[in-house]
Amino acid sequence: MTKPVPHVSAMSPYALAELNAPAGKRLISLSQNESLHPPSPHAIRAAADAVRNAHLYPDPEWAELRQVLAQLHDIPAEGILCGNGSMELIASFTYAFADASNAILAPAHAYPFFRTAAQLAQARFDIAPEDNCSVSVDALLAAVQPDTRLVFVANPGNPTSTRLPRSELLRLRNGLRDDVLLVIDEAYGEFADHLNEPMFDLVKRGNTVVLRTFSKAYGLAGMRVGWGLFPVHVAHEIRKVMNPNNISVAGQAAARAAILDQDYMAETVRMTSALRLQVTRQLRDHGFDVAESFTNFILIRFANPELAQSADAALRAEGVFLRPQGGAGLPHCLRMTIGSPEDLEFSVSILKRWKQEEMA
Ligand SMILES: *Cc1c(COP(=O)(O)O)cnc(C)c1O
Repeated sequence: MTKPVPHVSAMSPYALAELNAPAGKRLISLSQNESLHPPSPHAIRAAADAVRNAHLYPDPEWAELRQVLAQLHDIPAEGILCGNGSMELIASFTYAFADASNAILAPAHAYPFFRTAAQLAQARFDIAPEDNCSVSVDALLAAVQPDTRLVFVANPGNPTSTRLPRSELLRLRNGLRDDVLLVIDEAYGEFADHLNEPMFDLVKRGNTVVLRTFSKAYGLAGMRVGWGLFPVHVAHEIRKVMNPNNISVAGQAAARAAILDQDYMAETVRMTSALRLQVTRQLRDHGFDVAESFTNFILIRFANPELAQSADAALRAEGVFLRPQGGAGLPHCLRMTIGSPEDLEFSVSILKRWKQEEMA
């Protein structure tokens, strides 16, 4: 039998959410940080119209999409790369900048796909401790090694939901060697844009990348469109390892229309944030420890992994799926996506009942 290369056979498949509702229960998935709203009606129409041209390959340069992104964020279009989800971009620049002779550094409770990308590139994956589910710049700087090539920070973080202020990211960048590429993954950036601390200007230094996605605030997870702003020389290298026709005609059209409908996205962010504050308050009132969130999800921290598993089992028995966080080094935590008001209310009621039974 043909054998895969050793570093691939040593890997486990990427863990996606498990979603199997018990017989007779409606499945409620609060497990993948999907938007509580469907896409903008303009995006749906644009995607449907674009399918008329689906006998042709998509624009490999994403010209129209890049143009609206450049305008909206006041950034240079030539530094933008669009990916088949930001996951494609994460994997691609890892292949381009890391290999078995060097290392990638991330905070201890970072987005698990960073580790997967490092494994695929055969680079060592180093982690720095966090400070109560917040990224510690001091710990990251202390963990840098002579062979460190890439530093990944998601801001706001997933699954932690917490956020570093711009001043801390500047301190991190200024403390890193110039040959270390800093990747700031802003998959949830739109949920923190009201704080008015954009990071795109750092890209001009030539050693920093900022990533965003249409999967979260824009509600287009199923279309697979991510993007990032890169120093032009970095973009040039990454382009070589990407799929040349990576985003479908429908995906490109939907993403462009979604950018042009900022009111719709802003309303999604407003509603998500209001529900998040409400659920956080309800859970804290019942004695749950919930981290302060700047995203479309919350992280519920239990006293130990057994209690997290017990609460998770109570939710699953009713068809509600949160996301256990053992894979991110937080086995005592469950991550809950901010879904519809009804689904949240139902989930909170199960958690309250679980807590009462736990304390009885
Ligand atoms: C959801 C998420 C992504 C992946 O986004 P896609 O664009 O859907 O591939 C990347 N980074 C973080 C931190 C995320 O939470």
